[in-house]
Amino acid sequence: MNRVKTIKVLIIVVIFCGGVLWGVSHFKISSYVKEWIKNKGIPTIDFKFLDGKENIVPMLVLGSGPASLSAALYGSRSGIKTVVLRGNQPGGQLTGTSYIENWPGIKKFRGAELMTDFEEQVSSFGATMLSDAAESVDLSSWPYRVKTEEGHEFYALSLMIGTGATPRRLGIPGDSDYWGKGVTTCAICDAPYFKGDKVVVIGGGDSAMEEALELSPYAKTVDVLVRGTTLRASESMIGRVKECTNIFIHYNKALSEIKGDGMHVTSTMVKDTVTGAEEEWPVRGVFLAIGHIPNTQLFKGVIDVDDAGYIKIKDRHQLTNWPGVAVAGDVADSYYRQAGVAAGDGIKAGLDLVWWLTSIGYNSSVQTKLEPFFFDPKAVEKRKMEEIDSLTECDQLIADSKGKLLMLDFFTPYCPSCMSMIPIIEWTAAKFGDKVVFCKVDASLAYDLVKKFKVPDVPHMIFIKDGVIIDRLKNTMNRADFYEFIKKRIG
Ligand code: NDP
Repeated sequence: MNRVKTIKVLIIVVIFCGGVLWGVSHFKISSYVKEWIKNKGIPTIDFKFLDGKENIVPMLVLGSGPASLSAALYGSRSGIKTVVLRGNQPGGQLTGTSYIENWPGIKKFRGAELMTDFEEQVSSFGATMLSDAAESVDLSSWPYRVKTEEGHEFYALSLMIGTGATPRRLGIPGDSDYWGKGVTTCAICDAPYFKGDKVVVIGGGDSAMEEALELSPYAKTVDVLVRGTTLRASESMIGRVKECTNIFIHYNKALSEIKGDGMHVTSTMVKDTVTGAEEEWPVRGVFLAIGHIPNTQLFKGVIDVDDAGYIKIKDRHQLTNWPGVAVAGDVADSYYRQAGVAAGDGIKAGLDLVWWLTSIGYNSSVQTKLEPFFFDPKAVEKRKMEEIDSLTECDQLIADSKGKLLMLDFFTPYCPSCMSMIPIIEWTAAKFGDKVVFCKVDASLAYDLVKKFKVPDVPHMIFIKDGVIIDRLKNTMNRADFYEFIKKRIG
């Protein structure tokens, strides 16, 4: 064999062995899970098998929107130890919704208020709420292993997936460059910052109408661009939009580019979807309301999804194709996508998991025996940030934090990106506790502080050293980047 042939053979052997090894590790399914899937039935579990495993959670809930919290409510109220990983947008999409008028039994309320009450109700039945998010989920052996962004590792006996959906982006030139600098998905958070400006809203569904209505009292004009010839929004929403004299709906119009001066959006290129003609519109704000993408990345290749990527459920139940794994809410619902439906399905998911645990022999005496191995919430440090809302408190804080880095985090409870930063800031606060003072300021209450620090919109973080502002941060960041950002500023 000449040298070239030998090398070729070697490459084929290496690829073959790699493939076999990948296959073996990828399909390493424990005998319990194998038996469940094969028999579509229940082996009785010998719970002794779990002795010595730490951080066991009988019902682990991923997400904290209405679906997740309803499941947690039914789990914890049934006496099952339940832990909720609140995720990177605590409260889910409802925290960014204005008034809700179609929740059965209550005429009108704010989404964020509902989610706060909801968490309190769930906690009152003993569920643990953790400001943390799942980073990886291993369903290849039971109990299921879930690793979190904060570095915890849980062994879940049953799992509820309520990871929701993320707003879709346009992906056109300028979309990423001007994200948070005029391009946004949250009018309820940002509308007051567009006083007297021209803005565009993209989309023709209820979300687009809601964004336009929220912007109408502030903006000079609100142009809603619909790529087709029809609206998907409900008649009642369209009716309310038609009552506003500064909202204009344009059909067959789409954005092809977002332009700016590096700091903020200044104009958009608007394309006629029929003729292809383009023109430049001067605008300050671009509000995207073009639907959502289900958050299923953690379960890819294991949990069955439909053609549109939404997790499939079985029959009338909320169980997935995987034993002891239920799902509810927008991650599994491409059709109704209503908070009330998510809550109802969450109740079904909670009950399905309670019954599933019972069917494998889990009961109160098993729970008592396993108790020493349960996840102990006390192990997670309490690290609430300070909060101020007056100039006097601020002056005192600046004086007290001399020699340290002081961070003022301007937020509003109705701003999802603000709320998503809070667990990350609290986690970082625990790491740098002695060197940095982290403090929250609710911009909707502390008007004097907003004026003093010239805060243009939220989220907005201001970094102060010895009374002098040394930096400002407008964008949200992931855990690792924010940690590095703070580390650099400590010097
Ligand atoms: P929808 O899917 O209903 O609407 C999305 C809109 O965005 C459609 O007009 C769609 O156009 C358009 N679109 C999608 N992709 C693009 C793109 N790349 N460029 C331009 N336009 C695009 O989503 P919503 O978020 O509005 O609503 C989701 C669900 O939530 C619905 O069931 C709705 O009723 C509900 N909801 C209820 C509210 C309330 O009652 N207060 C408030 C908000 C939402 P096309 O039609 O051509 O596909």
